[in-house]
Amino acid sequence: MLKRGEMFDSDRETTNDGSPNLRRRAFLASAAAAIGGLALWQWRKPTVLQASAAPGEPQEITVVLFSDTGERQKTVHIAKVVKTDEEWRARLSANAFDITRRADTEIAFSGKYWNLHDKGIYRCICCDNTLFDSATKFESGTGWPSFWAPIAKENITEIRDTTYGMVRTAVSCTECDAHLGHVFDDGPEPTGLRYCLNSASLRFVKQT
Ligand SMILES: [Zn+2]
Repeated sequence: MLKRGEMFDSDRETTNDGSPNLRRRAFLASAAAAIGGLALWQWRKPTVLQASAAPGEPQEITVVLFSDTGERQKTVHIAKVVKTDEEWRARLSANAFDITRRADTEIAFSGKYWNLHDKGIYRCICCDNTLFDSATKFESGTGWPSFWAPIAKENITEIRDTTYGMVRTAVSCTECDAHLGHVFDDGPEPTGLRYCLNSASLRFVKQT
């Protein structure tokens, strides 16, 4: 392994511009950016994978509110919804608890929304945060409800997920950290994204 002095000597030999001091400053700046990025990534991790806030200190989050008819209302800064497992179990079916609070996945073609084509919005089963609009729902053939965009980017949180030996991007509810599903880059235009969700994480509100 090169020592620090050798590394800079090597850099100087292979470049025609810049003094070692300039290169060193650039190196420190990129190291600081990398550390900042790591901190941000860790901060974004939900409690499904790792607790992100100390007990008793509710984290403030930003979400966009929508009416039951899908009209965008306002952006609000509110405390994250935090409940104990016992409280969540009391509110949710066993299946919805396992999926939203334990990042489980429902069996394909088994949920109640994969084949639903009605017009309306999809809220979080845990906290009622508005997540997706039927206007962006498409037939993916996977057996899970699939969308090409969330109703508001603030309302969902995307997290790198390396469980089960795969590198995926998990999607959770910003307001309560409920696990929703995963997002892939093989979706249709205009985004090219496929948000592959569990029906059990959602509550459909039909537009009448
Ligand atoms: Zn939620």
